Amino acid sequence: MSGQVERPGIYELPFGARLRDLLELAGPPAGLRAVLLGGAAGGFVRPDELDIPLTFEGTRAAGATLGSGVVLVLDDTVELPAVLIRIAEFFRDESCGQCVPCRVGTVRQEEALHRVKDRTGAAAAGDIALLREVGGAMRDASICGLGQTAWNAVESAIDRLGVFE
Ligand code: SF4
Repeated sequence: MSGQVERPGIYELPFGARLRDLLELAGPPAGLRAVLLGGAAGGFVRPDELDIPLTFEGTRAAGATLGSGVVLVLDDTVELPAVLIRIAEFFRDESCGQCVPCRVGTVRQEEALHRVKDRTGAAAAGDIALLREVGGAMRDASICGLGQTAWNAVESAIDRLGVFE
């Protein structure tokens, strides 16, 4: 449990506890903006989705994932585009370069996020379309899980959080 909570740390809860229960243990921020479930390869959920049960099935049914078990809490002072760029940098750094979709895709993803970080609506549409195309190629054609999940958080920030709307 990390990010903007009062008591970051390691928590152990029984399967089936809700995300809300975990947040209450750690002390949620006043203006909760989003929770990144599953680490950099996971996905964002919104404050109105805190009843998601923390099970493999429950998170999958909600279109999220437990992933690595990392739960990153962000309040409404955080600049989400900057968080997405940091995640993209991580994947670009960690790509071993063996296969083209990941080697090129992680670079193109980071470039597009830098271009789009201060844009919304129609001004962002072209780069969001590019992110979807690149992200789909990474997910479908990368050899290993790193490339296959490199676009998860960005996709969920666009679709669940409306980050560039
Ligand atoms: S998907 Fe895996 S094998 Fe392919 S470049 Fe990325 S890290 Fe390497």
